[in-house]
Amino acid sequence: MTSVGEAEFREEVRVALAGFAPRRESVDDDAVADDRVSVVAERSEGEAEELAELKRYRAHLAHHGLAWVDGPAAFGGRELTPRHTALLRELEADYVLPDDGYLRFSISTLSPTLLAHGSPQQQADLLPPLRTAELIACQLYSEPGAGSDLAGLSTRAERVDGGWRINGQKVWSSGAHFSDLGLCIARTDPSVPKHAGLTTFLVDMHAPGVDVRPIRQLTGGASFDEVFLTDVFVPDDRRVGEVDAGWSVVVTSLLNERSAIGREVGVDDTLVERLVDLARTARQPLDERTRDAVADVVVRAWAARLTTDRFLEAGTPGPELALTKLLTTDLLAQISDIAADILETSHVADSGEWGTYAWSELTLGLPGLRIGGGTDEILKNAVGERVLQLPKDAR
Ligand SMILES: Cc1cc2nc3c(=O)[nH]c(=O)nc-3n(C[C@H](O)[C@H](O)[C@H](O)COP(=O)(O)OP(=O)(O)OC[C@H]3O[C@@H](n4cnc5c(N)ncnc54)[C@H](O)[C@@H]3O)c2cc1C
Repeated sequence: MTSVGEAEFREEVRVALAGFAPRRESVDDDAVADDRVSVVAERSEGEAEELAELKRYRAHLAHHGLAWVDGPAAFGGRELTPRHTALLRELEADYVLPDDGYLRFSISTLSPTLLAHGSPQQQADLLPPLRTAELIACQLYSEPGAGSDLAGLSTRAERVDGGWRINGQKVWSSGAHFSDLGLCIARTDPSVPKHAGLTTFLVDMHAPGVDVRPIRQLTGGASFDEVFLTDVFVPDDRRVGEVDAGWSVVVTSLLNERSAIGREVGVDDTLVERLVDLARTARQPLDERTRDAVADVVVRAWAARLTTDRFLEAGTPGPELALTKLLTTDLLAQISDIAADILETSHVADSGEWGTYAWSELTLGLPGLRIGGGTDEILKNAVGERVLQLPKDAR
């Protein structure tokens, strides 16, 4: 691991970011700044333009040696610490940058999963383009009959000459319609207990037999899809991990996904500041309960961030990271409730006034966040059983 002091790194990042975008504070006319308050990237209109801009930004970061701050040099990383990565994210919040939610799976989930389970060839071929967004990936786990009980899935992979043939249906696959790769779990041995006969594969989303159909959501966006896999050929060198040992790959990816949701989704300084601004400029004076609730959010956001940092500094993500997602979703629910109280009817009726109806996107997107990456109930089970060592849930 190389060493770069915090002050020096901050300066380096500021120079790099200033070369790409203006600082938020310099965009002083709120009427022209985007007023979206969303928890997951889910734009339908303008998605292609946002993605193109995001790819341009990731290339810019790579040019400045910042595409993978704490990653291995062999794959374009800088070999700095997770603290440096957190600093980059903190400084990014000060600039008007494209929404990087589109890359959450590629960067925060698939990259560490491939580092842990991928073959040397997969790591060399895929990690650099995943970090620069030349390749975008999605997660093909959930099925119509398998969500919380994922190991009960029915997609099948059968051995054929040179690889595997996959048949089945996946659902709620975020970003499948703009992805190049899908990390897919399929049953390779139906004769053994359900967790034992599963294998993970990297499916080429442009291959014959892959049919992606967007699902329209409550928010109006269509950020996730149904994916039908019909006789899709996957070469054996795109199998991740050993045959029938896919469950350990899934566990690694889910731990990283939960940690990423806790770390990266939503409750950043910008969102908290937006809430405080909303409270300051409310048309009616706030009652004591609402003032108290705003202050509570500010304090809890700090506590949540410090808790997540502490877990991450401890190294490899463990089951305790379920807590970071729970903290985040609880905080977002609190923020959404306060915004709804302050805004009253303009929260649900679009008057065209800046920064009012936009909050409805947070309110409508939140239930999905409580489900994606593991529901609240499943995460509480994980904390009870694996962190607190309580007796197992009846199954
Ligand atoms: C915004 C969003 C993005 C998503 N992105 C992806 C993606 O990219 N890729 C992908 O593969 N999937 C994705 N999903 C799917 C997600 O992982 C599943 O929806 C989730 O795992 C729950 O599965 P389910 O919908 O089948 O609900 P079920 O598992 O049927 O659960 C229904 C209800 O029962 C409760 N429940 C189930 N089992 C237990 C238990 N043992 N104890 C207590 N309560 C229980 C659950 O908490 C829930 O309230 C996404 C979902 C959302 C909402």
